Amino acid sequence: MKHHDEWHLDRIKEECGVVGFYVPGEEVARLAFFGLFALQHRGQESAGIAASDGGKVRMFKDMGLVSKIFTEQILDGLPGHVAVGHTRYSTSGGSEQRNAQPIFCVTVVGEMAVAHNGNLTNSAELHAELRAVGQKFETDADSELIAVLLMKYMELGIDEAVRRTMAKIEGAYSVAVCMEDRLIGFRDPFGVRPLSLGRIGEGWMLASESCAFDPVAARFERDLMPGEVVVVDSTGLRSFLTDGSTRGNMCLFEFIYFARPDSVMYGTSLYQARFRMGSALWAEHPVEADLVVPVPDSGIPAAIGFAQASGIPFGEGMMKSRYIHRTFIQPDQRMRELGVRMKLSPLRQNIAGKRIVLVDDSIVRGTTTDQIVRMMRENGAKEVHVRITAPPIEHPCYYGIDMASREQLIAANKTIEEIREHLGADSLGYLSVDGAMDAVGIGERRFCNACFTGNYPIQVSSTFDRDGIAKGVVGEMATVRSGQGLLEVE
Ligand code: AMP
Repeated sequence: MKHHDEWHLDRIKEECGVVGFYVPGEEVARLAFFGLFALQHRGQESAGIAASDGGKVRMFKDMGLVSKIFTEQILDGLPGHVAVGHTRYSTSGGSEQRNAQPIFCVTVVGEMAVAHNGNLTNSAELHAELRAVGQKFETDADSELIAVLLMKYMELGIDEAVRRTMAKIEGAYSVAVCMEDRLIGFRDPFGVRPLSLGRIGEGWMLASESCAFDPVAARFERDLMPGEVVVVDSTGLRSFLTDGSTRGNMCLFEFIYFARPDSVMYGTSLYQARFRMGSALWAEHPVEADLVVPVPDSGIPAAIGFAQASGIPFGEGMMKSRYIHRTFIQPDQRMRELGVRMKLSPLRQNIAGKRIVLVDDSIVRGTTTDQIVRMMRENGAKEVHVRITAPPIEHPCYYGIDMASREQLIAANKTIEEIREHLGADSLGYLSVDGAMDAVGIGERRFCNACFTGNYPIQVSSTFDRDGIAKGVVGEMATVRSGQGLLEVE
């Protein structure tokens, strides 16, 4: 049995992207490839595609980037008009082939492959309960848990199987399922992780973000509602809402950093939202300076917003290598530090002698920002004023964004003045939580902003010990809850 800390290391560091297709008469594995390619920023560790020709679900998955994994030959081996794809990110522990997705299984109504983005908060209990009734698991992935539940309930019919599965699982999930003859998509009742629906020819497409629609010439239709289920088959698309749905707690951090700026969520362009966050940052933390410098690429829209609102010129202060991927991929701290140098090089002539406003999306551990501030100074910046569009990140995310443990979060352990000092900046200003939400401007819709406020909209189960993650407490995993039959269907 796994110990508590291993369990968490394996499990909580997941960020993923999913796509799904049902397009009559098309070979959709190729479309899934290009869809995943557009979602590569959501996960760079492993990827997979499962496709069905109406009679058989075939799957290929491996470690690495989407472009490295798939070849013409592999895609040719995945025929059919139904498909799901998945790209997964993880920084440690669970970085193993067996945790790659989709997860394949055989149900009473045929073969099935499940792709999941998010993080379940009651998976330890569910695993324990299922194991207690003899269920074997091959992976630690939440998607296997979802697949097993769907499989168990499938004899009640597909709609009921999804309903019952959703009633059992808690947490954040946006799921795409490829069945032999249909595509299913569903989103948790809090709508924490995104999932969009698009039209493609005579068919339908699902994607974590709308930026995946453009490359395959799909048209954005709408976001799935929190708690919504869509089923696409030869009769077309139908949708229903599950109980307790539409509460709506969309992840604010998707808007600030995680999703691509060319995506649209809840009718809001993420680029525009980030631009407005930049203007709001100026309103909340004005400063006299000569040049507004973005940390590329994530800080660019906000820096432009800051520059326009303040009237301070916008200019580039560093170049980013296009061929280095996120430094977050590097698992250890030393590599992460090297990563910044490998990724960003200074434009000395632009910054020397100037008072710089350095705009970035977020400070998590603080390792990136302090190196960039140093780089600015070493290259002659007279002053460096750091402005950050994410409010201070003080709490871990249990819903599928890798935010590190509380121990590693700089804002959980230092005051803003101490962080400024640590960064070696002349001043430091974070956008307020209200400022960030107003900038997104999706009205009365509610967000999950737990990483900033500690207000977790979905209860984190007792076995998901919050401090245990930070402190690496070792203990036995969940014990089986007595007297509670998990499954109505065996
Ligand atoms: P840090 O050095 O830990 O403060 O990293 C902060 C930088 O990493 C930010 O400026 C972001 O560009 C990026 N970042 C923030 N959150 C994440 C995340 N969950 N996954 C990957 N990259 C992130």
